[in-house]
Amino acid sequence: MNGKVVIFSAPSGAGKSTIVNHLLKKYPELEFSISATSRAPRGNERDGREYYFYSAEQFRQMIAEDRFVEHEEVYPGSFYGTLKSEVERIWAKGHVIVFDIDVRGGVNVKRIFGDSAFSVFIQAPSVEVLRQRLVGRGTDSAEAIEKRVAKAASEMEFAAGKFDYVLVNDDLDTALDEADRVIGNFIRA
Ligand code: 5GP
Repeated sequence: MNGKVVIFSAPSGAGKSTIVNHLLKKYPELEFSISATSRAPRGNERDGREYYFYSAEQFRQMIAEDRFVEHEEVYPGSFYGTLKSEVERIWAKGHVIVFDIDVRGGVNVKRIFGDSAFSVFIQAPSVEVLRQRLVGRGTDSAEAIEKRVAKAASEMEFAAGKFDYVLVNDDLDTALDEADRVIGNFIRA
């Protein structure tokens, strides 16, 4: 059974989670794809809700068994991937799958699902605004912020021309309206 998918990718600090959560609330036919990861759970995260948590060894075994649609080592030693069983689970309900995955994963998933997929790259208005947001968030050291900013700049370069839609998150309310419109058009087309 084949259905539709929407893909969101963004450099950190671009506001991806806020936009994705807003859309999930607004459109009941959307369902979040729970990825598998080898990183440890953080805070209140629960297995089977934010992620399916596995050890690195289990994750490698699942790669060998060809159980993934796509997988990436997003951070050194931390694997993330979309299980084929997750895609089947959501489509079996007649829902549209929402992927929140890294930029390379987003490009791969778009290539796999073609016209059944709508891919959105969420972008902070500029590298400087992104830096200010990360400073304002107050959760990272100056060194960590520079690393994230450098990663974001290279992701923006990599993403250019590879997504169906680029959503510039300058003003959040405007970005949410724009997201409502483009995603509404795609899922109800
Ligand atoms: P976090 O560890 O902060 O939850 O996620 C780190 C990064 O991994 C985020 O950019 C997130 O979008 C990405 N990610 C989450 N799940 C997947 C996945 O299944 N595949 C890929 N390629 N990236 C993922």
